Amino acid sequence: MTTLDQALLALSYELLLLVDPASLCVVAASPNAVRTLGYESGETLCQTPITEIECALSDLFFWEEIRAGERPQAATMEGLYRRLSGEVFPVEKCISSTTVDDRELISIRARVIAEEKAANDELDRTTSLLRATLESTADGILVTDLDGHIINFNRRFASLWSLPDALISKGSDTLIYHSMVRRMRYRSDWRQWIDHVTHAREQETFDTLSLRTGKTLECRSRPQMVRDQMIGRVYTFADITDRLHAQQELEAARDAAESANRAKTDFLNHMSHELRTPLNAIIGFAQLIQQDGAGEHADNVDLILRGGWHLLNLINEVLDLARVESGKMELHIESVNLPELAADCIAFVRPLAEKYEVHLHNDIPAGSAHVKADPLRLRQMLLNLLSNSIKYNRKGGDVWLGSHCTEPGRISISIRDSGIGISDEDQARIFEGFTRVGSKQHSVEGTGIGLAFTRKLARLMEGDISLSSRIGEGSCFRIELPAVAGTHSAPAGQGTSASPHSSHHCNILYIDDEPMNRKLMAGILRRHPGYRLLLADTGEEGIATARAQKPDLIITDLNLGDMSGYDVLNAILADPDLAGTPMFMLSASTLQHEVDAAIEAGFRRYLTKPFNIPELLSAIAEIASDTRPT
Ligand code: ADP
Repeated sequence: MTTLDQALLALSYELLLLVDPASLCVVAASPNAVRTLGYESGETLCQTPITEIECALSDLFFWEEIRAGERPQAATMEGLYRRLSGEVFPVEKCISSTTVDDRELISIRARVIAEEKAANDELDRTTSLLRATLESTADGILVTDLDGHIINFNRRFASLWSLPDALISKGSDTLIYHSMVRRMRYRSDWRQWIDHVTHAREQETFDTLSLRTGKTLECRSRPQMVRDQMIGRVYTFADITDRLHAQQELEAARDAAESANRAKTDFLNHMSHELRTPLNAIIGFAQLIQQDGAGEHADNVDLILRGGWHLLNLINEVLDLARVESGKMELHIESVNLPELAADCIAFVRPLAEKYEVHLHNDIPAGSAHVKADPLRLRQMLLNLLSNSIKYNRKGGDVWLGSHCTEPGRISISIRDSGIGISDEDQARIFEGFTRVGSKQHSVEGTGIGLAFTRKLARLMEGDISLSSRIGEGSCFRIELPAVAGTHSAPAGQGTSASPHSSHHCNILYIDDEPMNRKLMAGILRRHPGYRLLLADTGEEGIATARAQKPDLIITDLNLGDMSGYDVLNAILADPDLAGTPMFMLSASTLQHEVDAAIEAGFRRYLTKPFNIPELLSAIAEIASDTRPT
């Protein structure tokens, strides 16, 4: 062999071997064969039996047949080779007969295929995983190329679109697509789907398709990318029929509940308004008769008043509970100065305590922390618990109002009494609405709503209420609320109204379309010579009177026959001569959002009917003292 021949041979990546068919020993080997099989030199490899290199069982049979005189057909096949070290690796080989210098030899050209085989194995694994995943998913899957030709789909796709096996076996894209169109309820769905898909390019698409069978399918599609190159689209089809039904039922139930709730609230508001208007006259005139001295009827008037106030209280409590139960109660959570609020509540219930001969003890220290709560509602809660502890007490008994920090960030307000107490059994149901317990308690006036309302409010304020009590020894109610971090008591709040006695002569215009209400107002103010009352029964007349008389204060009802109290307010605000005139809204509606709206619009005060005469006079006196010339 020339040096050039040898150099060429050395360049070959193939393993080249010549084998003597009689001895089955290797007689010549290429340098790459020597190196790959791990022999030191060509000499050591030569004389090695080929069956030590080709080591599969089938190879042994093959070479025995060669020794027996069979000659191989030149064909490519796979096999295993063993290195001198014993390590086995896969090869692709071609074995044929050849003649060299009149000597018949067997030639082998082999190529190591380890990496290729590993890659093929991996490909097989991935393909089988993909197929298994494709078939086990609950969604139908369709894969197309860029021209819309179907590349693949799973069985679920065929069953969602009810494609028969006979049709599938025809392998025609057109037949499959036609079948899909025929099953669509609306052709427009199909057109829109095709439109989305053809214009989507590299974006995802989402469509809802209604089928004639009543099913609804959700179809999503996304591009299939190979190295940033789009090669097709993958579609998934999900059956959302059940989900859609459940959702529709849920929405219908929610709508029904909301409309029932609205109807209930509307009814309650309407009833409240209807009840308050006559009650305003009953309580108002009874107060007037009482002030005049009812003589022999004093006890009867007192009964009328007590009944009237009780009825009003009942209406208010039922409405509050209904509002909080329907989630309609709006809370205005802010930092509340507890010591200040406690002092205010104690002052408020002092007359009741004197009546029942109960001693009040305010143990809330001046510097205690503020709580996070709605101040108006917290006042209502404390007043309810304090009045209970007085009402359900004994003559000469005690009530203690206290507070302490239960854990960082939480404040417990306690209302403890030395009263009649509540049995364990009754304690379990006392916070349910309309529940009055104990035999002794029934002799006291009450509605059984206060505690239910108080607990609902406490929970809305991220707090709670608890109770410990012993029959004959007394009860302790505790309201726990979030504390405001690092707070101390703030300066005293604004003082209440000026005394009616400090009133100065002032003109008051009262606009109300209800004659009984005008008569009542006239009866009240007649006793106060410092006030001159102007009356109007329509909005228009009221505005005209205001322009002519320039009153110091205008009090208006919300619903006047010809316009609303807001229209009157706007007319007054728009008139440069009257714009500064203070105005009160006096309405039978107690809805918080109406109160807020009135104050927001510019009313100085919002008073509700029936009203407490001293409260009304105090509000008027405040204005009178403001408007008094200096
Ligand atoms: P009301 O006092 O208007 O009846 P509440 O809801 O405030 O309604 O109270 C429910 C019931 O719980 C009362 O009727 C009374 O039987 C009982 N109760 C409440 N507070 C006390 C108390 N401090 N001591 C004894 N019984 C009480």
